[in-house]
Amino acid sequence: MYWDKLRLDGRIAVVTGGGQGIGLACAEALAETGAKVVIADINPATAEKGLAALAAKGHAADSVTLDVTNSKAVTAAADEIAARHGRIDILVANAGIGGAGAGAEDTTDEDWLRVNNVNYNGVFWCNRAFGRHMLAAGRGAIVNIGSISGFIINRPQMQSHYNASKAAVHHLTRSLAAEWAGRGVRVNAVAPTYIETPLTIYAKETPGMVDVWLRDTPMGRLGQPDEIASVVQFLVSDAASLMTGSVVVADGGFTCW
Ligand code: NDP
Repeated sequence: MYWDKLRLDGRIAVVTGGGQGIGLACAEALAETGAKVVIADINPATAEKGLAALAAKGHAADSVTLDVTNSKAVTAAADEIAARHGRIDILVANAGIGGAGAGAEDTTDEDWLRVNNVNYNGVFWCNRAFGRHMLAAGRGAIVNIGSISGFIINRPQMQSHYNASKAAVHHLTRSLAAEWAGRGVRVNAVAPTYIETPLTIYAKETPGMVDVWLRDTPMGRLGQPDEIASVVQFLVSDAASLMTGSVVVADGGFTCW
């Protein structure tokens, strides 16, 4: 009974930003446990690489090109995927961009809007558009990828726009969870620590930065994409049937200190 609850056979799962990094690991975890995955990524070449990586592990997946900041395109993609696959059961709203940059006083309008448009607005457009199909069907599970940055203030890098965008994702998650709980749609979030993906490569090129991160982490190490994917896999499955509005921290203890 307990293993079966983790199975996702026959479910249609959409992963935004699923061509690489945490999104690709989520795509693999969902595919391995039975879902048909659709990678929705801004860059067709990245999506293609993701599809090839899944195919190499024996998983057939689909893809659409999607910029999550374009609300009309997000709605059109949700409608197209629902028409193509007949249903949408799972959304992993993962697409996000890094924020390390200038101090708050020197952050430009463009930088603020660029980060918040992808990390926060994009998450809402996706929850709204894909959520509509789930609400119509009376079932569905959404996981938004937040961050420890929504709880703590990272150091040494300065990224007020990123931190605020992730705190907003967490509260949006709780807000939608409360609205949709009685209509069969669960909405949760995962808040990862630093994960080794293309997004964090910049830190390795910045002398001393990773050392500070490791010193601030009780486990003393960075995370791997699959360690977030397994939490996401659990949350979208029936094993998490009582969970909605949770922001699950997966951080090697980072937020304990
Ligand atoms: P990556 O940069 O490795 O992957 C992000 C993916 O999202 C890329 O394929 C990227 O495409 C795509 N993407 C970027 N902008 C858009 C857009 N507008 N529309 C659709 N797709 C887009 O990042 P991670 O895997 O590291 O991060 C995934 C999520 O996890 C993000 O939300 C991030 O904030 C969060 N997170 C990451 C942590 C980390 O340490 N890595 C820690 C905590 C949270 P392309 O590269 O082609 O532009």
